[in-house]
Parts: sequence; C-alpha cells; structure tokens
Amino acid sequence: MAPKTVLITGCSSGIGLALAVRLARDKQRRFQVIATMRNVGRSAALAAAAGPALGRTLEIKQLDVCDEGSIRACLDSIPGRHVDVLVSNAGVGMVGPLESQSLAAMQSLMDTNFFGLVRLVKEVLPDMKRRRGGHIVVISSIMGLQGIVFNDIYSASKFAVEGFCESLVVQALRFNVAISLVEPGPVVTEFETKLYEEAERADYSRTDPETAKIFTDLYLRNSRDVFASLGQTPEDIAEHTLRVIEAARPPFRHQTNVAYTPMAALKHADPSGALVTDAFYKLVFKYDAVLRFGLRAIRLLRWKSRKVKAGVRLLGFK
Ligand code: NAD
Repeated sequence: MAPKTVLITGCSSGIGLALAVRLARDKQRRFQVIATMRNVGRSAALAAAAGPALGRTLEIKQLDVCDEGSIRACLDSIPGRHVDVLVSNAGVGMVGPLESQSLAAMQSLMDTNFFGLVRLVKEVLPDMKRRRGGHIVVISSIMGLQGIVFNDIYSASKFAVEGFCESLVVQALRFNVAISLVEPGPVVTEFETKLYEEAERADYSRTDPETAKIFTDLYLRNSRDVFASLGQTPEDIAEHTLRVIEAARPPFRHQTNVAYTPMAALKHADPSGALVTDAFYKLVFKYDAVLRFGLRAIRLLRWKSRKVKAGVRLLGFK
C-alpha cells in the first residue's frame, strides 16, 4: 500500500517534533511526513532527531497557522495537494489571573489555537471531500473538556476547538473524512517552560493582592507538582496519536492520560456542574496539602516503576 501523506503543524519542538519523527521512522514505512513549522530556521532539533529519515520519509516545510497565504503555499507545494492525514498541533499557552492579561494577547492566542485550526481545515477539507477520504487529527487538551483555574483563556480556546470539531464531524463523515481529537493532560515540553517564564515576567499590579497570591503561592507551586507527577512525554503523546491515525475506525475523542478520567467522568455524571466545581474548589483551597502529598506519592511510584523497568531491561528481559 502507498504510504500515507501526513502533514503536521508546529514541528520545531514538543509533540509535533516527536510525532513527525515517530511516523517518519515507522519500520513499515507507512507514512510520508510533511513536518511544518513557522520558522524553518528552527529545524535543527527535528533534523537531528529524524536522522536518515530526513529527505526520505520526512520533509520540512514552512507553515504559519496564523497566515492563510503560508498555509496555501505549503499545500500548493505538495503534489496534487494530496494530504491523507492533517495533524493540527501548533498551539500556545497562557496562564495567570485574567486581570493581568491583555486582550491583544488573548486574541493572539485564539488566533493560533482556534483560528489556526479553522484556517487549516478550510484549506484541506475541500480536497479531502473531493477525494472522499482523509483524516483530520487535532491535538486538543483535557482542558478542552474541563476548565482549570487560571487557564481561562487557554481552556476557552480548546473548548472552541472541541465545539468546532464536534459540529463538523458529522458532515465530514458523509464524505468519508474522519476527525479525531487527541486530549492530553500535562506534557513536559517547551510549552510548560514558556508558561513559567511568562508567569515570572508578568505584571500582577492590575490584579488584587489576594488573587495574585493564590496564583503564585498555590497555583504555580501545585502546577509544577502536577507536571512532575502526572506529566507525559511528547513521545508518549506521539504513540497515542499514532494509534489514532492507524485505527481502522478512528475515535472522535482520545484521552492520553488515565489520571484525568475521573475528572471527565465527574463532569458527565452531574449536568448541573456542581460536583466538579465543588471538587475543584476543595482541591485548590481546602485539601491543597493532601493534593501535594498525593502528587509526591505518585511521583515516587513512577520513579520506582521506571527503576524496575530499567532493571528488567538490564537483565535482558523486554
Ligand atoms: P511546544 O511549545 O513545544 O509546541 C508548540 C509548537 O507550536 C511550537 O513548535 C511552536 O513554534 C508552534 N507554533 C506556535 N505558533 C505557531 C504558528 N502560528 N504557526 C505554526 N506553528 C506555531 O508545546 P507542545 O506541548 O508540544 O504543544 C503542542 C500542542 O499540544 C499544542 O496545541 C498544545 O495546546 C497541546 N497540549 C500541550 C500540553 C502540554 O502540557 N504541553 C497539554 C495538552 C495539550
């Protein structure tokens, strides 16, 4: 069977980079990867990780999801504009008290995370419909299902992504085009580093002191613990995304982190929203110490399990 052409956005780092490499180095050579990035001057890490796949099963192209011209130019440069699988991955984050964030920064985030996806789909979907085949895979977030304190705007952008896909999926199905949302929890990438750097530089003078203190003393500290204890690697997300891409009947939603299953279940169990709101309130303001203790225990267990796995490998077992 001819390899599938997979176009991925945001491949200079993180999940996009890991996925591009995973697919391009597929042992069965099932994929031809077009790894795109806003600035091709930042392709060194991808080129190094791709190794011999570069120029064979992986090529790097420029694509800025905020620029329709650049999306069109990229698509026009592909023979027959033929893309079997589009992976919309490019995205940016934003955390902090609402009062300290500018509207311009919020609009810019929406432009990347939501309208970036819309621009891509507008460009790719007509060709897929005409060919009566294709798969649109969107790297959403668990925050597209459940808002998390101090992630108001980021979460809103992922809710927008989810609503857009949920509406489109039925029409797309009529044309044999599948849509899938991959919903990771925390993933240890530049995304997290950038957020903390921005949080440290931010001006909290427009926020009341109590909110600023909750953000810096409670949220930031707990968030670091959450990433350290529950965070997945970009390679983990690449494996999950590969499973979605190769599925005979691709799922509409795929969550990558079982630690977040109870949260999603709680939301659906109580349509009034009281259960989940109450649980989060207590977790943040009442049982903060229990939360931190639990996260540290998980970190210890994960560290031990990694040690056991390494030991098993050392002894020559798989
Ligand atoms: P990352 O910062 O390493 O990767 C994001 C990529 O998007 C970067 O390479 C960046 O250059 C690119 N990008 C930003 N604006 C762009 C634009 N206008 N055009 C093209 N590319 C652009 O972070 P990541 O964690 O790999 O994030 C990838 C996706 O995963 C994002 O959509 C993010 O929302 C989602 N996600 C991340 C996490 C996490 O905790 N890291 C959790 C859930 C979902």
